[in-house]
Amino acid sequence: PNQTVSILGLGAMGAAITARLRDTGHDTVVWNRTAAKTEPHVAAGSRAAATVAEAAALGDVVLVVLLDHLSVREHLDPVAAELKGKVVVNLTTTTPNQARATAAWAAEHGLTYLDGAIMAVPEMIGTPVSRLLYSGDRGAYDAARGILETLGAADYEGEDAGLASLKDMALLTSMYQLFSGFIQAAAMMRTVGVPAAETAREVSAWLGAILPHTELFAGVIDSRDYSAGQSVDFTRAAVGSLIAASREQGVSADFLEPLLSRLDELSATGRGGADWTSVNEQLAIG
Ligand code: NDP
Repeated sequence: PNQTVSILGLGAMGAAITARLRDTGHDTVVWNRTAAKTEPHVAAGSRAAATVAEAAALGDVVLVVLLDHLSVREHLDPVAAELKGKVVVNLTTTTPNQARATAAWAAEHGLTYLDGAIMAVPEMIGTPVSRLLYSGDRGAYDAARGILETLGAADYEGEDAGLASLKDMALLTSMYQLFSGFIQAAAMMRTVGVPAAETAREVSAWLGAILPHTELFAGVIDSRDYSAGQSVDFTRAAVGSLIAASREQGVSADFLEPLLSRLDELSATGRGGADWTSVNEQLAIG
C-alpha cells in the first residue's frame, strides 16, 4: 500500500529520515516549527504542511522527530482529533516513563501509538548499520513496518511503550561510560605528548579485545553467584592504581572514584572476596 508519511521535525535526524523515505519512493509531508527548513525538502519532492494539524491529516503514518518529550507533547496534544486513525510513531528521544505517559495519552484519545528509539546518527539512516527500536502498540508496528524498515533494522521490543527507550538509554549509558574512559585515557597520554588520535587507536584495539568479557560477567550477574571470579579486593587494588596513576600525571580520576567507593563499601561489609561484578547489587536505589 502506498502510505503517505508525515514527518514532524526537520532537524538533523528528521531531515535524514525524510530524505531516506523520499529516496525509497515514499510520499512525504513535512512540518517544522521553523518553516524555512521545509524548503529544500519541497524542492526535492516532499509536500510542506503549514500546521501540525495539516501534517497529521495528510499522513497515514506520522513520524515525530522533535527535540524532546516536552516539544512532542506541546505539538501532539492539540491535534489528538486529527491523529485518530493514523499510526503515530514517536522517534524523539525520551525516558521510558515519558514514552509510557505519551502512550497513555494516546490510548485515552483512541490513537494508535508506537514509541521508537534511534540507534543511529543521521548519516547512518537507511544504511546497514542503522538500527531502530520500537515498543508499544504491536498493530502500529505491523502497519508501519514497511516504512520503518527503510530507516534501518527495525526491532520490536514489546507492548510496554517504555521498552525501546529503556534499551536505548541502557546502551547509551554504557557508551558514555566507555567514551569517558577514552577521554580520560587521552588526557593521561597527552601528558607525555601522545596525541589523542594514537590513544584512540590503542583504546579501540584494547576494548575490541576485552569487550567480549561482558558475556562472562553477564553469566555471573544472571546467576547472582559471586563466589568465583576476580574479587572485589583485587579490583579495588587495580582501580586504586588507576586512580593513583592518573593523578601522578596531573589528571583527575573523578570518573573512576564512584566505582572505587562502591568496591570499598563491599569490602568494608565483609564482601571483599566476592566477584567484583557483585557491585551491580549496589546500584539498586529506592
Ligand atoms: P536537532 O537539534 O537537529 O533538531 C531539533 C528539531 O526539534 C528541530 O526540528 C527543531 O525545530 C525541533 N524543536 C525543538 N524544540 C521544539 C519545540 N519546542 N517545538 C517544535 N519543534 C521543536 O535534533 P535532531 O534532529 O538531531 O534530533 C531529533 C531527535 O532525534 C532528538 O530527540 C534526538 O535525541 C533524536 N536522535 C538524534 C540523533 C542524532 O544523532 N542527531 C541520534 C538518535 C536520536 P526548529 O528547526 O524550529 O528549531
